Amino acid sequence: MKRIGVFTSGGDSPGMNACLRAVVRSGIAAGLEVFGIYRGYEGMIEGDIVQFEKHHVSNIIQRGGTVLKTARSAKFMTPEGRREAHANLLKHGIEGLVCIGGDGSFRGAMTLHEEFGIKVMGCPGTIDNDLFGTDYTIGFDSAINTVVTAVDKIRDTADSHNRLFFVEVMGRDAGFIALHTGIASGAESVLIPETKTYIPELIQQLEKGWRQNKTSAIIIVAEGDDGGGAYEVAEKVKEKFNKYDTRVSVLGHIQRGGAPSAFDRVSASRMGAAAVKGLLEGRTNEMAGIINRQIVYTPFSKATKHNQEINPQLLELVEILSQ
Ligand code: ADP
Repeated sequence: MKRIGVFTSGGDSPGMNACLRAVVRSGIAAGLEVFGIYRGYEGMIEGDIVQFEKHHVSNIIQRGGTVLKTARSAKFMTPEGRREAHANLLKHGIEGLVCIGGDGSFRGAMTLHEEFGIKVMGCPGTIDNDLFGTDYTIGFDSAINTVVTAVDKIRDTADSHNRLFFVEVMGRDAGFIALHTGIASGAESVLIPETKTYIPELIQQLEKGWRQNKTSAIIIVAEGDDGGGAYEVAEKVKEKFNKYDTRVSVLGHIQRGGAPSAFDRVSASRMGAAAVKGLLEGRTNEMAGIINRQIVYTPFSKATKHNQEINPQLLELVEILSQ
């Protein structure tokens, strides 16, 4: 293998740049020519491909987002789109790819391999931490730190006014951001898609806190919780329990932005270099993750199908510590 391509795809996450830098620099160090593919599969189809030298990735490790840009590509979902993408890879002599993205991006990479035999390795770039085969995805640590900083500020104002806040955080299908930030910010409760939400139980808990003279309460709601988003849950609670002044705060896209944490930079650097090493060893269709501090390669088929499971002990901990 002489030439490889690297791209970021799907939802962006802090640390993608650190991962890109590691792919480019470790690839060049191993004697490879490395091509940056802009805007994910969309850029692959349009031939937006540039050979990267070491200096192309200078001064990016500390930046959020992705300098390669990212995109979602409907055209890549069609055989014709993938044929065009593959033709552009051939034009540049690209024999292997590193895909930095989430499960959708990995599914696209698997299809590309199936149809054209191109070797593909993945790095888990998503704030959601929902990929099987790694303890932490690139961007998760930065995102939860952003959320915790925001919730700390909300707690100050909530406490001053005796308010109950419902804070909505990202997580359409996964509650990792909600659960970890709930523990780290001392939230009264955490509502996540993985568990059933019982409003009467939540009210009971809030009443108990009220009787214990709690001056504020914060409920973290993952956007995909079965009880609805933060506004919906707040309405349902308010109908039956109105001791506190109730407010809602939806944190939104600030959770994706900002400088990556040191933890994410280190993980991203290790995973990016491991993906290149994997390609050089002849691996394909695998994600480079970190489990128990060690690099572990997990087949895309497992990384995308088996959901990373919520640790029930963490849920229990929220309950115990908020009493
Ligand atoms: P993420 O990688 O963050 O999960 P998406 O689910 O949006 O993001 O996927 C990113 C892109 O990957 C999609 O826009 C599409 O182009 C491609 N993709 C996703 N699933 C498939 C699939 N089954 N076959 C081919 N391409 C896919």
